[in-house]
Amino acid sequence: MSGRATLPRLLAGTVGRPARLPEHHERFGALPATPGLLDELEAAGLTGRGGAAFPTARKAAVVRSQRGHGKILVVNAMEGEPAAHKDRTLLATNPHLVLDGAVALARAIGAARVAVAVARDEQATVSVVRRALAERTDRTVAFALHTPPWRYVAGEESALVHWLNDHESLPQYRPRRPTILRIGHAPVLVDNAETCAHVALIARHGAAWFRGLGTAASPGSTLVSVTGAIARPTVLEMALGTPLRSVLRAAGADPEPAAVLLGGYGGSWLGAAHLDVPLAHESLAPLGAALGAGVIVALPAGACGVRETLRVARWMAHESARQCGPCAFGLPALAEDLHVLARSTPGAPAALERLGRRATSIEGRGACRHPDGVVRMVRSALDVFAAHVDEHQRGAPCAARAQRPVIAVPALEPEEDLAWE
Ligand code: SF4
Repeated sequence: MSGRATLPRLLAGTVGRPARLPEHHERFGALPATPGLLDELEAAGLTGRGGAAFPTARKAAVVRSQRGHGKILVVNAMEGEPAAHKDRTLLATNPHLVLDGAVALARAIGAARVAVAVARDEQATVSVVRRALAERTDRTVAFALHTPPWRYVAGEESALVHWLNDHESLPQYRPRRPTILRIGHAPVLVDNAETCAHVALIARHGAAWFRGLGTAASPGSTLVSVTGAIARPTVLEMALGTPLRSVLRAAGADPEPAAVLLGGYGGSWLGAAHLDVPLAHESLAPLGAALGAGVIVALPAGACGVRETLRVARWMAHESARQCGPCAFGLPALAEDLHVLARSTPGAPAALERLGRRATSIEGRGACRHPDGVVRMVRSALDVFAAHVDEHQRGAPCAARAQRPVIAVPALEPEEDLAWE
């Protein structure tokens, strides 16, 4: 593979067919020794691609500075967002790129063990990783594959470490970040699968090459999962800073959707006025948005933003780990208010008022960011779909009531499921 600033980088090769080790070496070359890897990652400006976008080098340096032996690197390929399938696509294409990055990071922090976590429900990905691990010849690190059950919060890094310790996917309260997570006594570094693959390429080509794509503040490329107003859900690799509408077009999605849910189910809705925003941290932050784990859901014209938001909020409430009051009780109440609003009943104006108060009382009070994400998503919906909200609170029948829902939401238990009235 050349060092040119072209795409694809991570998805070079045949998408959907995992490269065997010899093919991988032919495509990317062997992983070199990288004594100054963390400096190179710092210079590259690589940030985590799992959602939080924390600087990769800084996070690794905190774990490297821990004394003692037995450090563990965890590759997080849990992919808890229902609309995300980028890590699965990457592993189904270039699994050894992810594993190379894990080896490079493990060496950099002084870890001799690497745990790869893939949701057991994703059997195809589990098989790909198992076969790739069997092909590895590294003797410097010992790999182990772990398969926690899939659920939304199971991919949150402290929940994943909790599962690796005790087989419980519960997030842990962390007053300061970065915090050292541990498996037993061993300090742990958790990095997303895509992040590891970028590390593998930076180890080969360097920081300047990585910065050949993207913007100065948001360098490099990233994977996005595009769903919604599109014939077939698609994963694309794009340069950071690419306008949202260009990404929709490249994915084969409707370039004129009514709105886009960006960043995931705890992300933000963007209305038609912002479809040309560059997908980069510095352009999205002023809109209160972020790329998160690269989820882009295009809502077609004619769909009802209130109803779609309700379905997502209801499912997110169901996915709470139910260990914090604002999340366990606040999110179902938030979803219930949205339900009253979506049904255009006489109680809709009061429900709308309560929504604002509830959002304020929930925000910032959970052990993890799950409830904050739901609040952000609901607030952005009330803003972007203000016209729909107004119709619903005035009791007007929803124009989209006969349409099928757009956003993919896993089925809830029958008694909890929302009738699409
Ligand atoms: S905020 Fe919600 S999801 Fe997060 S730990 Fe608390 S109950 Fe669990």
